[in-house]
Amino acid sequence: MANIIDGKKIAAEVRAEIAAECAELKAKGVTPGLAVIIVGEDPASKVYVRNKKKGCEEVGFHSEVYELPEATTEEELLALVHKLNRDEAIHGILVQLPLPKHLNDEIIIQNIDPKKDVDAFHEINVGKIMIGNYDFLPCTPAGVMVLLEKSGIDVCGKECVVVGRSNIVGKPQAMLLLHANGTVTVCHSRTKDLAEVTRRADILVVAIGKADFVTGDMVKEGAVVIDVGMNRKVDGKLTGDVDFATVEPKASYITPVPGGVGPMTITMLLRNTLTAAKKTLK
Ligand code: NDP
Repeated sequence: MANIIDGKKIAAEVRAEIAAECAELKAKGVTPGLAVIIVGEDPASKVYVRNKKKGCEEVGFHSEVYELPEATTEEELLALVHKLNRDEAIHGILVQLPLPKHLNDEIIIQNIDPKKDVDAFHEINVGKIMIGNYDFLPCTPAGVMVLLEKSGIDVCGKECVVVGRSNIVGKPQAMLLLHANGTVTVCHSRTKDLAEVTRRADILVVAIGKADFVTGDMVKEGAVVIDVGMNRKVDGKLTGDVDFATVEPKASYITPVPGGVGPMTITMLLRNTLTAAKKTLK
């Protein structure tokens, strides 16, 4: 029987710390401010944006949501980003991805002031993470590291396997585990004999977007298993990339879906916004 890592509980603890720091910062005259831009009508994105606004309110931040029509042009979106770059009440800018097809994610992200890039997707912030001298960490991998730390799991010297190599999750996750002195292997869709690699893992992080893909036979007895996946089943239920029923009996620790990594992502966004706001204090 694995220990279940309670992401909701850990996220609530971290949010309480953020709220306390926010109150201190407000007393010094700075209210952390987050601007979220959403273009178009994607229902999942709308839910994420609503949750981000709610998260801001809970910890005492100022938040602004810009809901732009699907037909917004690149010039119009860039004009808003540049205006927010100059706005002293805004410390973090987040453009909800994916953008509609006629807009280029990369061009928009590279136009966010790196000091306000609380998703940590700007190439300057990506480079800083590679070097290990960063202000912001990408929210989901940072959340995974907090879950490990708060569960008392030491990464140092461990065999860490990350399945997935996206710029948002897999690659930065591998880098953060490396910074924590793990021995890191990254797997992807071209990996030969994936199960042979995942069975080596003391700490296995799965972020591929395929429901219940990692099964018990792919996991070593006693492994720590972190499931980043969020997949909707036909019945509408949320499920991870890990087959909880067969993996949980073998794992020493495991994150559930929902209630594992998910609650940490917005929490880390709040933390990045707080960090950005603190940096404006002289
Ligand atoms: P991407 O689709 O961008 O990347 C998926 C990665 O998985 C790719 O690197 C791909 O390999 C790899 N992959 C796909 N199929 C296989 C396979 N059969 N074997 C091995 N590797 C495979 O996804 P994201 O990284 O953005 O997201 C991954 C999952 O995490 C999704 O379910 C997403 O919803 C979830 N997510 C959850 C968040 C949260 O807050 N909990 C936040 C962000 C994402 P290749 O590069 O070779 O194509």
